[in-house]
This record gives sequence, C-alpha cells and structure tokens, in this order.
Amino acid sequence: MSYEYERIATPKAGLRLHLNENTAGCSPKVIAALQGLTRRQAAEYPDYDDAVSATSQRLRVSPDELLLTNGLDEGLLAISIVTLRSNSSPEAIVVVPAFDMYAACADAAGGHVVEVPLNTDFSFPLAAVQRAITPDTRLIFLTSPNNPTGLCIPRDDVLEVARAAPNALVLVDEAYADFAGESLLDDPVARGISNLVIGRTFAKAYGLAGLRAGALIGSPATLAPIRRVVPPYSLNICATVALVAGLEDLDYYNWYLDEVRASKAVLYDALDRRRIQYWPSAANFVLARFGDRASEVVEALKARDVFVRDKSRDPACPGCLRITTGVVEHTRTLVDALEEIL
Ligand SMILES: *Cc1c(COP(=O)(O)O)cnc(C)c1O
Repeated sequence: MSYEYERIATPKAGLRLHLNENTAGCSPKVIAALQGLTRRQAAEYPDYDDAVSATSQRLRVSPDELLLTNGLDEGLLAISIVTLRSNSSPEAIVVVPAFDMYAACADAAGGHVVEVPLNTDFSFPLAAVQRAITPDTRLIFLTSPNNPTGLCIPRDDVLEVARAAPNALVLVDEAYADFAGESLLDDPVARGISNLVIGRTFAKAYGLAGLRAGALIGSPATLAPIRRVVPPYSLNICATVALVAGLEDLDYYNWYLDEVRASKAVLYDALDRRRIQYWPSAANFVLARFGDRASEVVEALKARDVFVRDKSRDPACPGCLRITTGVVEHTRTLVDALEEIL
C-alpha cells in the first residue's frame, strides 16, 4: 500500500474550494509587514523570539510548551520521526477518513500504519481505537474538528485514548479549531496529560498556507525530542514576520470566522433544498454526499472554474465531496453553480 502524498492539481485561476484555504487571503497587514522586510533581514538567519512570544500569548501557552514548525505538516513529520524511528515494529493509528499527511509521514518515518474507520455516522470510534492499541503503538493521530467530516471528537474520548496508550504520543490535530471556537489548549486536564500533543496551523484561519507556519504544543519534556528533529531555521523570515502581523490583526481574523459561519449556513440551506446529505461542520468546509453523481458534479463545477475536493472514491466516505466554505460571496458562486448542475 502506498501512502505517498498525492499533490492535488492546482488550478491557476478559478475558485479554489478544494484545499480549505482562506478564500479571502491573509490580512493586508501581513503583506505590509512583508513589504517592510529589509535587505539585512533577508540576509540573516531568522530569530524566532517575536514569533514565539506572539504565538504563545495568543494560544495562552508558555514559550517552552510551544514549538513553531514550517507548517503543521512539518510538525506531523517531526512527531512521526521521533515516535516511529525505533528499529522494532512501531505502529501509528490513523482514524479514517483522515488528512493524507498522517499516513504519509508515519510511513516515511518507518512506521506501520493501522487504519481505524470512523463509525458509519462518522462519529468517533472510541472502542475501535482502544482495540487497535497494541504494545507497539507509538503514535495516534486524532483530528478535531476532523478533516474531511468537520465533526469534533468528544474531549473525554481524546482523554480516554491518551490514557489507554501510555507508550504512545497522541497528536490532536486542531488545524480547524479556530473555526470550532473550542480547543484542548483551554482544557487544563488535557494540558496536564504528558503524552498528548496539540497541533495548530496558521494556514487556514489566518490565511498563511503559502507562507508555512504551524505549531506543536505539549509539555516541555514531551516536546524536547521533537525539537531536536526540527531544523533550527525551519521557518523563514517571511513566515515569522507574517505570523506576528497576522496574529495581531484580530479584527480580520474575527471577520473571517464570521464569513465562514455565514457561508456554512448558505451551503446547508442549498443542500437541504436539494435533499443532499451533509454533516454539520465545526470547520471551514462541509462534507456532502452526492452519491453516484459525485464525480459528475466535480467535473461540472470544474467546467465552471469552481474546484472542490473529490473524496467520493475514498472507501471511508464514498460519494462525498468536501467543499471549502470561506467568504460568503464565494460560497454563493458555488451554490449558483450547483443549482445549475443539479
Ligand atoms: C491543512 C491541514 C494541515 C496542514 O497545515 P499546514 O500548516 O499547512 O502544514 C494539517 N492538518 C490538517 C487536518 C489539515 O487539514
């Protein structure tokens, strides 16, 4: 089985609703900050003090509980290397359908990928995950809100998994937590569990996907070995400057969260009218089941320069498409196209 990450063909123009990017772009203050970069800054190795301080304040964690990474993807790779590189037969549990990078990173680091399917209603399969834990389990990937379903994992289930696997690290990927408005970062019990690591990204809500900035949060002792595998200048100067400016512009951030909320309502309404099944999402996208027509809908949207993510051939979510819900105007364009097609 190949777990190689498949790069999604990226359209040069058109409406990109296939990668859960911020469809409004980053804050204009980020661009202003980048324009303020000096020749000297470009020539020097980046210092992370300002970025670490701004991020830790924003996430309400202490700097020694925070590791900035070149996108959360790098954090996923780093945690995979640390937990799975041993020469025994390490296992990584991935609850599917899942973000493709988990299996890609676990596989690249030499781990054996153990897939556990979500329940058929896409609720979290706590008992099945517990059954999948073996003495060789070293890493468990959980995603809340989940990609591609948009559903959150009950906090108690996360804690149960962490307790059931004391020899493993449990990575809770919170790439979409900004949109959910809830996070284990604010949960003192979760924060006290030493084998729990929380992943965040500034790609989605802050619109910095092109600049690459993510973070892992965990206890200093848990993060120490992970720090050692992340190169010392992993984020470049543009990412650090962008991160500080993006975190500062709370008005822009909150405006975008409102757009996403309103966008989801617009899309739900359209799907309800067509009696298309969907899962109410805590993220900035919606998974909807178009059944046999899924591929046809993807192609017809593409012909109208609208790109959505075809998940219909994933056996874990057959017939489903994942649609990014960003700026309301963009969602209306999608809905108009859907109405024409259906
Ligand atoms: C987008 C995404 C990421 C990747 O974040 P980057 O910071 O862009 O690397 C990680 N996890 C999930 C679940 C995602 O959807």
